[in-house]
Amino acid sequence: MKTSADIRTLFLEFFRERGHEVVASSPLVPANDPTLLFTNAGMVQFKDVFVGKETRSYSRAASSQRCVRAGGKHNDLENVGYTARHHTFFEMLGNFSFGDYFKREAIQYAWEFLTQTAGLPAEKLWVTVYEEDDEAADIWLNEIGVDPDRFTRIGDKPGGARYESDNFWSMGDTGPCGPCTEIFYDHGPEVEGGPPGTPEEDGDRYIEIWNLVFMQYNRDKDGNMSPLPKPSVDTGMGLERLAAVLQGVHSNYEIDLFRNLILAAAEVVGVKDAGQSSLRVIADHIRSCAFLITDGVLPSNEGRGYVLRRIVRRAVRHGYRLGADGIFFHKLVAPLVAEMGEAYPELTQAQAQVERALRQEEERFAETLDQGMKILEADIAGLSGKEIPGETVFKLYDTYGFPVDLTADIARERELTLDMAGFEREMAAQRERARAASQFGADYSSDIEVRCSSEFTGYEHLIDRGRIAALFRGAEPVEVLHAGE
Ligand code: ATP
Ligand code: MG
Ligand code: MG
Ligand code: MG
Repeated sequence: MKTSADIRTLFLEFFRERGHEVVASSPLVPANDPTLLFTNAGMVQFKDVFVGKETRSYSRAASSQRCVRAGGKHNDLENVGYTARHHTFFEMLGNFSFGDYFKREAIQYAWEFLTQTAGLPAEKLWVTVYEEDDEAADIWLNEIGVDPDRFTRIGDKPGGARYESDNFWSMGDTGPCGPCTEIFYDHGPEVEGGPPGTPEEDGDRYIEIWNLVFMQYNRDKDGNMSPLPKPSVDTGMGLERLAAVLQGVHSNYEIDLFRNLILAAAEVVGVKDAGQSSLRVIADHIRSCAFLITDGVLPSNEGRGYVLRRIVRRAVRHGYRLGADGIFFHKLVAPLVAEMGEAYPELTQAQAQVERALRQEEERFAETLDQGMKILEADIAGLSGKEIPGETVFKLYDTYGFPVDLTADIARERELTLDMAGFEREMAAQRERARAASQFGADYSSDIEVRCSSEFTGYEHLIDRGRIAALFRGAEPVEVLHAGE
């Protein structure tokens, strides 16, 4: 069997042999982009190369990039524990062309890698292109010879803006953009879900494994698109998704690396049945938490640190759910180092600091978790409807250190919802009290934007960085995530 580590090497060597410079993963905190919360794709470290602001000694590169998608534009936190394919932390395998090869070679390389090097049967693969990308369609259908029955053109989202499509990528509102082509793997009729482009596509039967982005245009502020003088390629394939396919399992959580982490989690939590979703959540979260700390993030009440705190506390709560007796989460750093330390020496090096930081955060939350849970359970037991009152959500948040998404996670398990309007009223009252107590007479209300969603897509308080200290003076603990991160 090919292990995750074997597959990472297989990919990088394939592209090295084809003239690509193998570049190490960059850290999770992006060096060149303050607007981005975390590195969430392989191309992030090459952004300036793509826009021509930076030049390198090579025009082809390949990497296995550590990524976090929790908070920010790409947020998969709420998918963890529910889908077979999403993590908060994952590795993105990618090959890149900086004005070197374009669609033809990119598609040929991808197909050759999957069907020959990795040995996947062509009839298990499904290909999509952007609706208008005749060039890519022609390469797939007439040069590669994919079966037209497993090929879909994907257009703009119904009701969405022009070029708002899963198969059209843009760096931002302006700048490089272009069509994508994606490759899916069919895990078979036993799994629920339909092919891409159908209403059932969000199921886990057809799992997207590789996205090839063709940076073809530059979009200006008026929305005009002009062809880029040197079109480029950016691709991304989830290592864990590819490993699942190559190891003959359906879920990412059944691959070698995750099996070991889940067993370790079961052991430190003290449960026998390793099939529980909470163990998957814990195994997922130890990776994002440990790597975020390795890359310099520490749990805090704002920005990146608050995202980290939210993930740690969710993991700890899932342990509590399984009946963990005392703190456990930091004990998973050693098993993680055993799995990933060789590929990521920085993780091994930071092991002691990571353990310390996690332990501290666990101890801190342990003081209020049990009490908060008892209050919540009592409230739920007395509930007449299906909604947890805003006062409770606020009390848990304000006094017991329960981030709102953590309470939402519990509610979702019980098929309950949160009274977010009530929560916001409590927040507003809190701010009012803080303002009255503040020595400043100014009105800060316009600095605050509280954004929330009823669909568990995460809850983010976007608050002006400079004003926060004054704003919440005397009203701790308050947890915020800053705007623009
Ligand atoms: P999905 O539609 O399944 O959420 P995506 O379209 O958001 O995936 P891309 O942004 O195209 O993903 O990222 C490129 C590749 O990275 C995907 O094809 C997939 O293999 C992998 N990937 C993306 N998000 C995750 C995740 N949360 N966990 C694991 N792998 C992921
Ligand atoms: Mg996604
Ligand atoms: Mg997708
Ligand atoms: Mg995609």
